[in-house]
Amino acid sequence: MDLTTATPSEIDTRLAELERQDAKLTYDIQSAWSDLRAALGHRQVRVLNRDGRAEYVYLISSHDAEHEAVAPDASTNTREAYQALHALRKQVLVNRAERTKIKVEFNRRGGWTRAWAVPNGHVHQSTACSTCFPTTRFGWLSQVSGMNEAEIVAQAGERACTRCYPSAPVNPKPCQLWTIEEQAERASAQQVAAVKAEKAAAKAAKAITNPDGSPLRGKWGVIATERTAEIEAVNEIHNFLAFDYEINQAYLDTLFAALAHKRGQTVEEVTAVIQAKATKKAAKTMGPSIESWNRP
Ligand SMILES: [Zn+2]
Repeated sequence: MDLTTATPSEIDTRLAELERQDAKLTYDIQSAWSDLRAALGHRQVRVLNRDGRAEYVYLISSHDAEHEAVAPDASTNTREAYQALHALRKQVLVNRAERTKIKVEFNRRGGWTRAWAVPNGHVHQSTACSTCFPTTRFGWLSQVSGMNEAEIVAQAGERACTRCYPSAPVNPKPCQLWTIEEQAERASAQQVAAVKAEKAAAKAAKAITNPDGSPLRGKWGVIATERTAEIEAVNEIHNFLAFDYEINQAYLDTLFAALAHKRGQTVEEVTAVIQAKATKKAAKTMGPSIESWNRP
């Protein structure tokens, strides 16, 4: 990135990335230190503080630990752990140098506007806004760096802090401005909603009711799916054909009506399909000599 020609928002977006990277490096360095201590065979010991609280500490200082790590007789594990720590430290310095260059460019241009958002709260011109507290957490909106008040207010809509942006309208528009963390949250919420809608649609596609929308009652409770309704109807006829059970014609008619409604077919069309399936099933049970059933 050519700092002299890049836009404020390009520069600040890079700066935000560098800050995130730096925070991660701090974490990675801690874990590299643990690895190095382990390679050196250092163990933490439990010590009691004067206030009675216990703490786990290394009795060998990190300074001595580094000396040990570069000693000629250091093990391969130790050397590798130390190299990893060293590489991370180098990244910290490179990161810091780039951030310094950005700071210099910011000052050279006499600064530019920046905006911050409190998570799920207002958008502010500075983290020192008098409506906030020292403990308030902020997310940086580097995408609007360099924009004027009107431009930021147009995007922030109802989220614009009226103390920071006195021109914010009384009846603002919905917000269109989100921090990186909020964007990620919103994307995952959208994904969850889409999956839920998809599941609901799949369920609805399989669902069946009476034509009037009331629950379709089967012999053993409510029949929820088209598939179950068809199996019930087929069995009702099959059991008559194969085992000479009495047919519950009213029940069968209810199933036919529900299936016809669901499939957008006539009762006759549905009956023909179910009849054929029941006859085929009965032939399997009893042999091919079975007579077919016809709706009386
Ligand atoms: Zn404010």
